Amino acid sequence: MKRNWLRRQIALMVAIAVILSLFVAVALIVTMSGCSTPGVVASPTMTSPAPAQTSTVPPTPMASTSDASSETETVPTTLFSNFPTTKRVHSVKTIKTTTTTTTTTTVRTTPKPIALKTPGAVAITFDDGPGGHTSRLLDALAEYNVKVTFFVLGQSVERSPGLIRRMQAEGHQVANHSYSHKYLSQVDEATRANELEKTSDAIEALIGYRPSIMRPPGGYRSEAVYEEAKKQGMATVFWDVDTADWKYKDSDYVCNYLLNHTSKGRLILMHDIHKTTVDGFIRALPRLIEHGFTFVTVDELVHLEPGDVYPTYWRR
Ligand SMILES: [Zn+2]
Repeated sequence: MKRNWLRRQIALMVAIAVILSLFVAVALIVTMSGCSTPGVVASPTMTSPAPAQTSTVPPTPMASTSDASSETETVPTTLFSNFPTTKRVHSVKTIKTTTTTTTTTTVRTTPKPIALKTPGAVAITFDDGPGGHTSRLLDALAEYNVKVTFFVLGQSVERSPGLIRRMQAEGHQVANHSYSHKYLSQVDEATRANELEKTSDAIEALIGYRPSIMRPPGGYRSEAVYEEAKKQGMATVFWDVDTADWKYKDSDYVCNYLLNHTSKGRLILMHDIHKTTVDGFIRALPRLIEHGFTFVTVDELVHLEPGDVYPTYWRR
């Protein structure tokens, strides 16, 4: 009788020890994964691929009016599908007839460990600047010797000429994103021409040549937009990975999204006017480099002629 009681006590203690060690393991997994900063709850790991990676259907721009800081672009629809962090100890059974203790445990943890994709050359693009965080971004790009493409607004070019000169001097590509972020398919022909021309004029005055590519604000597109770009010597460039950084404004989110979705040959869309974007990008950058990614300008990624549209599936 007493021996049975002793066996049960031992079995109980073994079970408690197993459960405690599982808690420690789960805590370790959670703290080691993703881009969470100390003392900050990890943001959700994105499990859904970017829209263009699952479908070749170009995103449809939203009809709402928006300023430069709230550009409406494609957003993954299942961003938070994997959000909850669950930890479940299924059952602990003690078998009386033998001295063996059997423990059946199911532990599920999210966020999932970061899954970086096959490395290769990637074109990172920043829209809507230059802004208050662009200088710090340029510092980080110089530190890691990474080249990117800036789709700048003409009105911001005039406000921050030094940043445009610095972009050019440090090997980045300077591209046209209209003068005041007007949706180019929604305005009359004269306004469309003027928005692009004034911006190219401002850029040329600073760096000595006109941009070879433009990106329509908000992704608003039409044949008239492509035709005007062609007249002014530019190709139209969209993106195929939209970080939706402008929407979430969370540096952990941006960092995790970049780690999970940066993929060989892709054009990645971000906005350097947001502190959270610059912070998240700077945190992800060394890990992407360590994994083997290289960063190129759009011109280095793909050869384009005036009037071209890239990625080509946007032209429908
Ligand atoms: Zn924009």
